[in-house]
Amino acid sequence: MQLADRVSTITPSSTLAITAKAGELAAQGFDVIGLGAGQPDFNTPEFIIDAACEAVKAGHTKYTPTAGLPALKQAIIKKLKRDQGFDFAPNEIIVGSGAKHVLYLLFQALLNPGDEVIIPSPFWVSYPEQVKLADGVPVTLVTSQDHHFKITVSDLEQKVTEKTRALILNSPSNPTGMIYSKEELASIAAFCLAHDILIISDEIYEKLVYNGNKFFSIAQLSEAVKANTIIINGVSKSHAMTGWRIGYAAGEAALIKAMTNVASHSTSNPASVSQYAAIAAYNGPQESVELMREAFEKRLNTVYPRLISLPGVSCLKPQGAFYLFPNIAETSAACGFQSVSDWAGALLEEEKVAVVPGAGFGAPEHIRLSYATSLEKFEAALDRIENFIHQHK
Ligand code: PLP
Repeated sequence: MQLADRVSTITPSSTLAITAKAGELAAQGFDVIGLGAGQPDFNTPEFIIDAACEAVKAGHTKYTPTAGLPALKQAIIKKLKRDQGFDFAPNEIIVGSGAKHVLYLLFQALLNPGDEVIIPSPFWVSYPEQVKLADGVPVTLVTSQDHHFKITVSDLEQKVTEKTRALILNSPSNPTGMIYSKEELASIAAFCLAHDILIISDEIYEKLVYNGNKFFSIAQLSEAVKANTIIINGVSKSHAMTGWRIGYAAGEAALIKAMTNVASHSTSNPASVSQYAAIAAYNGPQESVELMREAFEKRLNTVYPRLISLPGVSCLKPQGAFYLFPNIAETSAACGFQSVSDWAGALLEEEKVAVVPGAGFGAPEHIRLSYATSLEKFEAALDRIENFIHQHK
């Protein structure tokens, strides 16, 4: 079968690949511990499930407006006001089938062939692939652990060209867990405004920040920055609702309209029942969000000291999200592996622990461990990793 050239350049999601491999081993009866998951291990809060059930029973099972139910847009507008003090109008909001889908719509609506998007690395695996799917050019900006995986204006100066259309910021970051401060964001925003670069602010981990760290949205800096930013967010991570597939974008009306046109010829609308669930999530009590955040924080504070005590492993303490992103190049080499990916493959084969190799995130010396799993399982995984390292030395 002859396929489109477009798909030959796409790398399948490494996170989903490792989860699939771990699933296969588990199906064969092996006791696999998966640290690959990009989703909370909690169930969706009960009141949200109830609202969805009621919506279905009430017959809300039909198509909805492409950009989302008016009531959901209102709930999102209220959320943005409550949390950041933003004022958005309904025509500045689009709801899609997850933040991933909304980002896909964005690149389809924004990019002409050859347009460049600056993507700080390590990055979430889908950003470069989605830019390529829109005939754009992902321009990777490599950051280092020494600089807390953050970009600066002088980094941006190296990468900007007249083809640069956008910069993606993901704070808190998947995979590094780093959060940009208001001051750091201010200089990046000034650069983007001066060079007419749209800021894509992926805020999906907004609610998962730990140990006194604070989330700040770049669009809060000023009206001018807000006008030059498109915010991406959703209920997946904040409300343990990954399977419901609801995300949104908030930004300039003309861009939102173009994204809506693309959606109208692809998905038509996000699932109606999920939209009713999301209305409940945003309009209902937010205590469960905080309870989940506290549980993640406790896990992080328990497992982090043990992780960095492993020989040849170095890791910054994450400030948000639910991943640890250690550099294990030294231990991987000491164990005799050619690459960290080989190390991770052998770990899964021998010790049945699934971690995601950093190569897919643009950081081949690292692995990503998700602590969206119980403490008990995470600690057992660390026992196995420790054993693996000792066996191979
Ligand atoms: N952005 C980042 C940084 C993510 O890690 C994810 C999910 O893993 C998403 C966006 C997409 O989330 P969803 O499509 O479930 O809303």
